[in-house]
Amino acid sequence: MLEIKDLNVKLEEEDKEILKGVNLSVEAGKVHAIMGPNGSGKSTLSYVLSGKDGYEVTGGSAVMDGVDLLELEPEERAAAGLFLAFQYPVEIPGVGNMTFLRTAVNAQRKARGQDEMSAADFLKLVRARAKELKIDAEMLKRPVNVGFSGGEKKRNEILQMAMLEPKMCILDETDSGLDVDAMKLVADGVNALRSEGRGFLVITHYQRLLDHIKPDVVHIMADGRIVKSGGPELALEVENNGYADILAEVA
Ligand code: ADP
Ligand code: MG
Ligand code: MG
Repeated sequence: MLEIKDLNVKLEEEDKEILKGVNLSVEAGKVHAIMGPNGSGKSTLSYVLSGKDGYEVTGGSAVMDGVDLLELEPEERAAAGLFLAFQYPVEIPGVGNMTFLRTAVNAQRKARGQDEMSAADFLKLVRARAKELKIDAEMLKRPVNVGFSGGEKKRNEILQMAMLEPKMCILDETDSGLDVDAMKLVADGVNALRSEGRGFLVITHYQRLLDHIKPDVVHIMADGRIVKSGGPELALEVENNGYADILAEVA
């Protein structure tokens, strides 16, 4: 579903190399996690995949389900089925959550050459998804994220993900200071959306999040590269011993 080969990235503004040959392959139906010390390039990887400005790809490739992501504009990547979770945590006063979701869904359908969803069909779908995710219907009527608690924002982001039916979901939780409840929300959301045709890349500092998500593969990133990959036990090793042993071993 996502195939990254020898990806090299530097900052546009200064001559600083951040990703130094990332190789990563996420199969459909699988959940891969990336852990790693601060500053190792985890967020940069998710930004580059989503098409954020400020980075220059100097080598390598990133292909999602046969589509060369690096050739596409950010919105085209989203339309092709890439979802970067927590990319819309902004508050949008005056725009109802429901309206926002409908606009996003229809924009994506349009980009995929599909007809707009009727208001009635949309309403049915959003209510069903909200129910599955235990999201209060009341939240759908409020302005996007305005006055939402941290937990409500998380729920809303998971709802956005559910509505857009992405092929590949990337969640960068590294610096968000999730409390235990929010972590559980994110994990439940990911678990609910796990499916055969969908891949997940979960970036996190927290072994605890991975306790709930149970990833298929765990990668350790350090200094712009994936330096070690393994099963869920790798996350436990990090939890127990920190990164020092692993970094020494691969050095
Ligand atoms: P992580 O998410 O693993 O903590 P980041 O991807 O945020 O790591 O950062 C990797 C490195 O790149 C860090 O040294 C960081 O300071 C640097 N970096 C990333 N983006 C920028 C930027 N826009 N300007 C300057 N330095 C940056
Ligand atoms: Mg960081
Ligand atoms: Mg980060």
